[in-house]
Amino acid sequence: MAQSKAQLLEDLCNNTIGNCTRCKLHTTRNTIVFGEGNPEASVMFIGEGPGKDEDAQGRPFVGKAGQLLTAVIEKGMKLKRSDVYIANVVKCRPTVNMELKRDRPPDDEEIAACGPFLKRQIEIINPKVIVTLGNPSTKFLVNPKEGITKVHGVWHLYNNIPVMPTFHPSYILRNGGDSSPLKRLLWEDIKKVIAYCNGEITYEDIFGKSLTIDISINVRGDEKRDDEVQGNLF
Ligand code: URA
Repeated sequence: MAQSKAQLLEDLCNNTIGNCTRCKLHTTRNTIVFGEGNPEASVMFIGEGPGKDEDAQGRPFVGKAGQLLTAVIEKGMKLKRSDVYIANVVKCRPTVNMELKRDRPPDDEEIAACGPFLKRQIEIINPKVIVTLGNPSTKFLVNPKEGITKVHGVWHLYNNIPVMPTFHPSYILRNGGDSSPLKRLLWEDIKKVIAYCNGEITYEDIFGKSLTIDISINVRGDEKRDDEVQGNLF
């Protein structure tokens, strides 16, 4: 009998990745942060790599940035965090000079070693839409010519899966947090994802060619979604 997505993910985590030593990050990690959520998720969020809290707990996006991401999912998209799948480009915490003081984006070597596991996760989950958070995941999946400030909100494709790049929650928190205009921009991007999930915009509308599968998923479309509302949402 064919294995379920949950079984395939478990196999990837326990047997393929195992007690990984493929890059230097294993020397300083506390836990491997594989990713979590619904193996059948329609929406997948991809960050860059675990931070201190994630490394301690073995779960993605559980620190301050995670609180903002969770609010976007639950208050903004009206989904449960457990409905979506959340993963990172690298699964162990990257820090400056490996000193466990300041986090940094993963380097090319780390991405080359770990990135294939993310690709396999995407292949198994086969989400209807991917939201990349910040530059590393956006670059890794769709390699745009410009950075996130230019390409956020612009649909891309990864293996025929629509990808919406947006700002990393940590970047928003570092640049004004609640009062940051970036938060509004992120919400504009997320609204496009909601509209796609609701079928208000179609694959063909976006990419000019059709995708012959049913992409309607359960994101509530009856909410008033404008700039003012965002301030009350998250
Ligand atoms: N930042 C990320 O990119 N991923 C996490 O899991 C947490 C913070």
